[in-house]
Amino acid sequence: MMAKVYIEAHGCSLSLSDSEAMAGILHSVGYELSQEPSEADLNILVTCIVKGPTENRMRYRVRALSAMEKPLIVAGCMPEVEEKVLESLNPRASLLGPNSIGMIAEAVASTLSGKRFVAIRRGPEEKLGLPRLRRNPVVGIIPIASGCLGVCSFCQVRLARGRLYSYPPKAIVSEAIRAIKEGCRELWLTSQDNGCYGLDIGSSLPELIRFVAGIEGDFMVRVGMANPTYVKQFLEELLDAYKNEKVFKFLHIPIQSFCSRILCLMRRGYGPDDAMEIINAFRRTFPEGTLATDVIVGFPTETEEEFEETLEFVAKVKPEIVNISKFSPRQGTEAARLPRLPSEVVAKRSRLLTELSRKVSLERNEGWIGWEGTCIIEEPGLKPNQWIGRNMAYRPILIDEVSKNLLGKSAIVRVVGATSRCLKGKIIA
Ligand code: SF4
Repeated sequence: MMAKVYIEAHGCSLSLSDSEAMAGILHSVGYELSQEPSEADLNILVTCIVKGPTENRMRYRVRALSAMEKPLIVAGCMPEVEEKVLESLNPRASLLGPNSIGMIAEAVASTLSGKRFVAIRRGPEEKLGLPRLRRNPVVGIIPIASGCLGVCSFCQVRLARGRLYSYPPKAIVSEAIRAIKEGCRELWLTSQDNGCYGLDIGSSLPELIRFVAGIEGDFMVRVGMANPTYVKQFLEELLDAYKNEKVFKFLHIPIQSFCSRILCLMRRGYGPDDAMEIINAFRRTFPEGTLATDVIVGFPTETEEEFEETLEFVAKVKPEIVNISKFSPRQGTEAARLPRLPSEVVAKRSRLLTELSRKVSLERNEGWIGWEGTCIIEEPGLKPNQWIGRNMAYRPILIDEVSKNLLGKSAIVRVVGATSRCLKGKIIA
């Protein structure tokens, strides 16, 4: 009888994609995947260290899983940059870095036999063509590269995942075709920074989008996060690629701040005008499109006036989604050596930006009331007989009172309401 393995994944789409591949590899060699750590013979924790509170949560999970006295493998970004911390939390835990997921079966066999397995600080790994157990059968998460070209002063992820290593477009297209054959209706092109995709292999994000959207089949493509740094170089081409009806009109462009001095300190490689040029072009080309951005509040030395610049940007641009992070110093980063702002100042700025972003998201979402069109039922809602659909702008549409299993189906809906987080819809066909 092969052992039972529990996998718990945290973090970005790339991290979730890694966990799907690890589950697929283990399943393909006969291990059973269990839903609960208490039922498993071995536990795997796929970690994320993107910000302080997240790392604290990982430390808490390592302690909790270690307390079960079962073999433990810690994977993801944390082993690469916090090896000593993990050894202090559990010296027997095996460690598997984000560039070693292909070794998961070896790691499990070794750890189950009582031999600690450590595979970290390895070169880039191609993560395509691997067996996969998808978290959501509707969604094919397609990793397109590992690493990035960024030197962002606050970021520990680049220390964990290394320099850009783009996967060949041909291999990505094969992975996409496989996902479609397996019934996926959405393909998520994901990496740390899709904006720099292909710059190391003579390709580019617009070219890749054209190749994937050109595949036959009834599916939609979601393009993941892309920094303004590189997008500004191929903006028109990118917007052209987005015009394909198979591409969600969804642009996730993390600006982090709208103040040029802070962007310099962050070493982001673009200015407020660059970000504005991209956003204006997207809004002009796709007025109904969804704009998502990320903002770090309370970056060291940020003045009230400089924070105001970011508030004004949000009030003016009205992004549908603003992912807000309070600055937290990350081990080994440049920004960790800068003088920090008082925590009450950071908390106040986070509150102000949260209130404003909710207000503008609600305003934008209310603009959809009365809209009728097709959406893909992506996942079940939190309540029974509730579903979440995604329309052509990747807006989430909450649909109630439908007992039929709609997962992966297309439905024609009318939008009858809105909140700051989603639209409310009724199926009309
Ligand atoms: S682009 Fe910047 S923030 Fe993003 S992973 Fe790379 S270094 Fe980190």
